[in-house]
Formats: sequence, C-alpha cells, structure tokens
Amino acid sequence: MLDSLLTPSIATATPDAPVLYTPSLTQYTRRKTIPVTIGNVPMGSDYPIRVQSMTTIDTMDTAGSVEQTIRMIEAGCEYVRITAPSVKEAQNLENIRKELRARGYTTPLIADIHFTPNAAELAARIVEKVRINPGNYADRKRFEFIEYTDATYAAELDRIREKFLPLVRICKEYGTAMRIGTNHGSLSDRILSRYGDTPVGMVESALEFLRICEDENYYNIVLSMKSSNPQVMVQAYRLLVQRLDEEGLKPYPLHLGVTEAGEAEDGRIKSALGIGTLLEDGIGDTVRVSLTEEPEREAPVAKALIDRYTSRVSQDPSTGVRPIPPVTTYPINPFQYARRITHDVANFGGQHVPRVIADFSHTPVQEHDVLHPIGHFYLPVPDKWRMNDLGADYVYTGSRPAGFMLPNGLKEIQDYTIWQSAGDLLNIVPLLTVAQYQAARQGSGPLHNRLNIVRLTLAELSPSLLAQLRDDKTVVLLIHTDNTQAMPELRRLFVELMNQGITVPVVIERGYADVAEENVPLYAATDVGGLLIDGLGDGLMLSVAAQPEADTLKRLNGLAFGILQAARTRITKTEYISCPSCGRTLFDLQETTAMIRQRTDHLKGVKIGIMGCIVNGPGEMADADYGYVGIGRDKIALYRGQQVIKKSVPADRAVDELIELIREDSRWIEPEKVETF
Ligand code: SF4
Repeated sequence: MLDSLLTPSIATATPDAPVLYTPSLTQYTRRKTIPVTIGNVPMGSDYPIRVQSMTTIDTMDTAGSVEQTIRMIEAGCEYVRITAPSVKEAQNLENIRKELRARGYTTPLIADIHFTPNAAELAARIVEKVRINPGNYADRKRFEFIEYTDATYAAELDRIREKFLPLVRICKEYGTAMRIGTNHGSLSDRILSRYGDTPVGMVESALEFLRICEDENYYNIVLSMKSSNPQVMVQAYRLLVQRLDEEGLKPYPLHLGVTEAGEAEDGRIKSALGIGTLLEDGIGDTVRVSLTEEPEREAPVAKALIDRYTSRVSQDPSTGVRPIPPVTTYPINPFQYARRITHDVANFGGQHVPRVIADFSHTPVQEHDVLHPIGHFYLPVPDKWRMNDLGADYVYTGSRPAGFMLPNGLKEIQDYTIWQSAGDLLNIVPLLTVAQYQAARQGSGPLHNRLNIVRLTLAELSPSLLAQLRDDKTVVLLIHTDNTQAMPELRRLFVELMNQGITVPVVIERGYADVAEENVPLYAATDVGGLLIDGLGDGLMLSVAAQPEADTLKRLNGLAFGILQAARTRITKTEYISCPSCGRTLFDLQETTAMIRQRTDHLKGVKIGIMGCIVNGPGEMADADYGYVGIGRDKIALYRGQQVIKKSVPADRAVDELIELIREDSRWIEPEKVETF
C-alpha cells in the first residue's frame, strides 16, 4: 500500500480555503441564489436548473412563432425567448402569448431587447420576463474612446438611470422579471473606455444597471455574462459572483451561455466547456445553449449538461461521488488565465502545445490504414507518411505493439512490461504504474532515458512519489479518476502538485465507456476543458468502448483537438463564431455557415464571424478576424476585425469576396488534397 499524502486530511475534513466564486472546490454544492418569479416557473437555487432557448423566426410571424415555440417547449424548454427589435414586435408578443395560452402552453415568455427601451417597456407589460443588454440599452456604439473624469462618469450613470428607471418601475408593477444580460462583444464605449475589453468591464456593465434596480427595491433579476470565448465567459461569471458578495448585493440567479458557439460538435464542445465548467462549481440556475441549428435542438444539449448535476449528491458513494480532500491553499487565479508552470519533458510541458494521445490499446495497429482516423496517412507512392492538422502526437498501444514502423510525427507508448521485452527502449515510450515506476527507480528494471509516462490517481500521490517527481525530469504524469466528480478530483491533484512546487507535465485521461455517444463531447469538454481553462494540463487521452470502431476513433481524435481549440490552448482549425439566429436574421444562417465552412475550414487559426444582422452582429463577433454580416435582404457587409471593408456585397458573391479579403491579407492557402482523406 502506498503512503498516501492526502488520506489524513480527508479524515479531518477541514473546509476548503475560501474561494468566493464557488461554495466548494471539492464537494458539489449549488450556489445559493434568491428565488426569482418568472410566470409559473420560478428560478433560483431552490428549484431545478432551468432549460431555455430562443426562437429564430420573425416575431411578426405569429403562427410561425407559436409553432416554433411549441416545438421548443416539447424539446424541453422551460422558458422561451423571443426577439422584440421594435415596438411592433413587442406588441405582437401579445398575440403569440394569447395563442400559446389558448393552446394550453403556459411556458413563460421572455422578450429579448437591444437598443429599444420603448419596446422593453411595452413587452414588460405583456410577457413574464424581459432581457436587456446593458451594453446597448442606453448607449449607441460608435467605437470611440472617451476620457471620463469621475464627475463626467457619474453624469453618465445619471443619464442611464433616467433611461432605465421607467422599465424597472413597470417590471415592479407588473411582476415581470428581468435579465441584465452582458455580452462581451457588445460592451458600451463607456465601459470599454473605463474598464477595457475585460471580464471586469463585463461585470461592471451589469452592476451599473443592477444598482439602479436595488435602489428601487426591485430584485426579480437574473444576470448573465456571455462571451463567444469560453475562457472570458468563465472568468466573468466567477468575477460576477465574487463582486456580488463583496458589494453586499443579493445572490441573484445566473443564466449561463456561450454566445455564437457555432454549430455541430464544435458548438457543443464550446458550450459545454464554458457552461459545464461553471456547473461543476455549483454556479448556474438556467442554461441556454446557442447553436447555429434549429432552436429545438438546443434544449436537449442544455438538459444533458444540467442532468449531470441533478443527482450529484455530495459524498454519496452510491452515485459514484467520492470525497475529495479539501483545498486549504488555492494556487490558481480563477479570474485570469495562466498556464501552470511545467518543465519540458520530450515534447510535453514547458512552452509545448498540449499533446493528444490516441488510445489504441484495444485496436490492433497492424495495417497502415488503422491510423487514418487519427490524422496519419500512408502514401504508397512515394512511400511516405502525411499528417493533417488533426494528427495525434502519440498512440498508446497498451500490450499490443504496432506491427510496422510508425510515422515520424507519431510516437508509440506501450505498457511497461511489453516495452521491457519488446526491445526498442529508445524510440518507444513506456507507460508505468506508480508501483512499477518506484520499483524501477530502485533498480528493478530499466527506465526510458528521456520520457516515462506514469499513470496515477489522486490517491496514489504520496510524499515518496512527490520526492521522486521533484528530481526526475523524464516523467510525464497521466492522471485519471473514476470519481463522478471527475474535474474537481483531477483539479485537486493539480493543486497538490502546484502547492508542492512540482513542475512535472501532466496529461489528463478520461474514459466514457458507459456514456451515451451524444453526451461524450459534452462530458469530455466539461471534464478536460474545465481544467484547461485554468491553465491545467499538458495533453489529453480520451477513450470510450473496449473495441472502438474507426469512426469512433476519428470522433475521439477530433474531440480531443476540438476541446484544445475551444479552450484556446492549441489551435488546429478555423474558428467560426456564428450567431444562433433570431427574428432579426437576414439570411439562412445554417446554410450560409455550411457554405463558408466548406470553403474555409482548412484555414488553421483564422476566426470568422457569421452574423445574421447589423444591429448586433459586428459587436457580437467580438474577436473574429473576419466578419460576414447581414445588412439587408441579400446584402452582406464584410469586416476585417471590427472594421467594415466591403459595405454592401450581393449575397451570391459574398463568400468569394470574403475569400478575396483573406487573400489580400496573405492568410489564404489552397486546401491541401491530403486533408480530404
Ligand atoms: S447577431 Fe444573430 S442572433 Fe444576434 S440579434 Fe443579430 S441575427 Fe439575432
């Protein structure tokens, strides 16, 4: 039995060190929030985490809006949001609501408001909740930097109060709830000038409006801090929680979402990474997943994310939740990204990008083709290997060594006993248990002279092992757990290494043998992404069933790279920031996104925003390199960063013109044939 470093502290169960943004870093506890009345579906920590989404149809199309809302309710939405860009749409919410009620649907409706206080004031008399964006409720964006003195800034706050007070009073009178929903991409010039494009600015943007509500004794409020960058989004929510506590404001329920997440698996990964990371720490009272797909496809994803926590009763072993030693010193800054400091071991750690290890321990590596799913292609003529952007770095073959020489860009990892007997102690890397490693250190067998991968759990971290890790610069840890609270347990392991000053690189291993296929990306993005987002992890290895098919191996490999991309730790593909569309949308977003993706998805690292309207689009696409924005029927504006370059391009030429723009910047490359394998 190993000497355990951590067991005694489990017994004494001292509480976690205070980290204000979460009730506990090691024991799932939902953050306590006040109840908010939203029609007949209240929100807050006394109630389940709610699912919601937003219609995409023109709000003036009453029948279409009703039908779509019903489809969304039947898919699991507990609230439905509908855009009200002007007074006439706000007024039409009444017809939509009446028809829904007449058909027996009592689901609360939410009016989505940007720029139009008069539409908000009308909608607040009709529907159960109004969402306002503090970035544009009282301000127009001119992309100007404004110098404020304290006095001029205070005068601005007075101006906001005057514009906002009527809505607060109407909401109070009608019992209407409100979401103050900050978007990273649409912060006002005032906030940007004062606080910069930062999580601090996002939080302050909401608090300015919230303080006005509290002055009026109006508390029926939900808050959100969305961004298309999950890292920024997570930091902003954490900071918001902390600032509410520090300022003595009420603990309002939080609406979680990653904006413009995109479509398909990438959209799901990005959403899960942001939303799941917060849910793991008990933060969040309602979830909206934004996908560039039909809105009824969003609710099942939100529900799958939420369901993971409904049965997570702390410390109940029957649910697979096992106690994790408390954290007394937390070495991670949760509000600012910094990668954990590690030393180099081969191509792990240090400044190296996180590595992807493909698990082929149950897949014989006997034919060249078996490596196609992980991005390595053998070309008989000219007898060479090619690799695409998603080429795995290592393949773990377990106890079944590869039957041929692997390509240069792919190294083999074998179980230690096989490695010892296979004979190639230089080019193949051993994977050892802790016991094997410690025995080898005492001379029982050889070790690799550059890279030894030691697989372990938190419980196996012992003082003697830590002492060995401290002076051995050939080790990379492969950490795993079967605790249902996976992310917190793995995080706890990192915390221990950091507090002990151990800079060994660490690869995160996760297996999802009993998880439904559609949930694997969501769970993996949460478990691994939740660590990467705090700078933890120098690689990952994912696995599922015992005998994965080629398709599954390909999916897992894509998932691994997708998680690294969404966490912005290793960029291997084009990033699309596409809005989910709504009643303002001026073209078919799904079709257009697919078309743009088809022509540009080989442009590694380029970020393209695809936005349905000029009103919010340019702001919402935040840090995109290029923007494709609807400005009218069949008319598109093309952006370079935040600057409009081509003002009114006919839709049928817009993708070509976008490519031309990318070409002008010398960022265009012709698609390589090999990538179509
Ligand atoms: S950017 Fe897209 S989702 Fe946002 S308001 Fe415009 S069309 Fe609607």
